[in-house]
Amino acid sequence: MKLTPSEEQIMARMQPGVITLNGFLGFDTRNLNEIIADDEKVLEMLGISAEELAERMQYFSDKTFESYDLPVLIDEIYEVETNIVRGKLPCPFRHPGIYRKTITTLTNRKQQITVRWTALSIHTIKEHHFFEGKGSPFRLDPQILKKALLD
Ligand SMILES: [Zn+2]
Repeated sequence: MKLTPSEEQIMARMQPGVITLNGFLGFDTRNLNEIIADDEKVLEMLGISAEELAERMQYFSDKTFESYDLPVLIDEIYEVETNIVRGKLPCPFRHPGIYRKTITTLTNRKQQITVRWTALSIHTIKEHHFFEGKGSPFRLDPQILKKALLD
């Protein structure tokens, strides 16, 4: 799929060293709109929306935000920890506003899966259906994410 000039600018902002050290695209060679469309197909197959996943992520981040870097066991299954790093990040899609650098790490003990995300990941998933490119350190595969958060 051909990119619009605006999408090209967004992709430029997602390169390593622009907003974050490692960028948002990893080794993915697909265009931004293809990355998003492919993940939307997976979501449809899974029967869950990006908004539902983002709300669940927000729930876990909120529950651990004030635990001062200590892991919290939630619902006897989810071991969750939120670390707050110095600094703030803007949305690469050029939304106004900046996001605190928080990293939430969740281990689903039943499924033996660990996933992690930032406050910005919650935003890009909820508002843009963007789970990052393959090979990006904060790429979240929707199928694995669903299993980690809801199974
Ligand atoms: Zn945004």
